[in-house]
Formats: sequence, C-alpha cells, structure tokens
Amino acid sequence: MVISQDALGAFMILNNADQEQFAHWLTQCVKDMANTLGEKFKHTNIQMKLKKLHVNPQNELFTKLIGCGNQCPFCKAPCEAGGRFHTEHWTSLHRPEGLGRFRWRETQKLVIDVCSSSVLSDKNFRCNATNGEWHPYKRYTDFFPDWENAPDASLQASDYWKYVLKKFNKRFAEAYDAKPADILSLWHISLEQAKASIKESFNIK
Ligand SMILES: [Zn+2]
Ligand SMILES: [Zn+2]
Repeated sequence: MVISQDALGAFMILNNADQEQFAHWLTQCVKDMANTLGEKFKHTNIQMKLKKLHVNPQNELFTKLIGCGNQCPFCKAPCEAGGRFHTEHWTSLHRPEGLGRFRWRETQKLVIDVCSSSVLSDKNFRCNATNGEWHPYKRYTDFFPDWENAPDASLQASDYWKYVLKKFNKRFAEAYDAKPADILSLWHISLEQAKASIKESFNIK
C-alpha cells in the first residue's frame, strides 16, 4: 500500500514520542470524551432524539398498526394486513357477527355465529352492500372480493369476544336496535379467561 509522505507527516512526529506518556494521555483523553458524551446524553431526552430522526417512528408505527381502516364486512374486525397498500384484507380473529350488527331476521336477536364458519354454511345474509337482497354466505366474495375470510368449520369466537358479547349483550342490542343474542349456556368465561384468550391470540406472553 502506498501512502503519501505528506499524509504521514503529522504522525511521524510520534516516532520520537514517549510511548508511555502517549498511552497515558490517550487513555485520559478517551475517558474525558466518555464523560463529556455521558453529560451530553443526560441532558438529551428521548423527545429531542426522536425529533432529529429522518423517519418519524411514531408515524411509522401508527401507519403500520392502524392499517388500511377496512373492517370485516360481517363482524367488523379490523383488517390486519398492515400498512395501507395491499390487495387483500384479512384478520386473524373474527368475532360473533352480532358485534357487526347482524341479527336473525325472524327474531331480531343478535347472531353469535362467527363469519369464518358462516361462509362455509348454506345460510344467506343481506346488508347494505347487497342492497338488502339475500345472498349466500358461500359467495360473499361476489360483494366483497378483496376480503379474504378463510373458512373454518371448527371455529367458534375466541373466549375474549364471547366474553364481550355476553357481558354487554343488552347494551349492544340497544345500541344496534336489535334483541340480545341467545348466549349459549356453555359460555361460562371469566374475565381472566377472556384476558388469557386475547393474549394467546396475539402471542403476548
Ligand atoms: Zn369477520
Ligand atoms: Zn386491509
């Protein structure tokens, strides 16, 4: 490697330097530097650091978490596809459809079925999108082509959403101008079980 003599000039002086002294001052200098930096960081709070970043982390996180704002056409669970630009909306946790205002025609009682099961059934639905006309759940993509609702025959609502519907059944019914859902007698779920269920669904330890 060729290094020009000019560039070396400043360092050649060190050839005659006292090595111990040099090591001493170098160590001292590094210590001082650490102290100065430490002091400086003490007076810099997280807000100031965030302000100086090129990307704004709050905004990035917000956009990522808020997603596209689309909701499942049946249970109104928010789309989890992340970000704004995707061709297919999906959610990992569908809810009892009553929470999305769906009720039985004859009784006006809120529906406890989960849409992931309904889309496998021979039942029909109607809503604003169908102009109030009955339409088979199995062909829901005729009206909602960009919603992926993975059919799951075994799926019941998570304990969390069962708990929510059971606890606030009457209030949902009032708010949605419907009759309270017929809650299955099997739905004995404590608040602890409900919390554990939501943690499990989102892998929170
Ligand atoms: Zn749904
Ligand atoms: Zn989406």
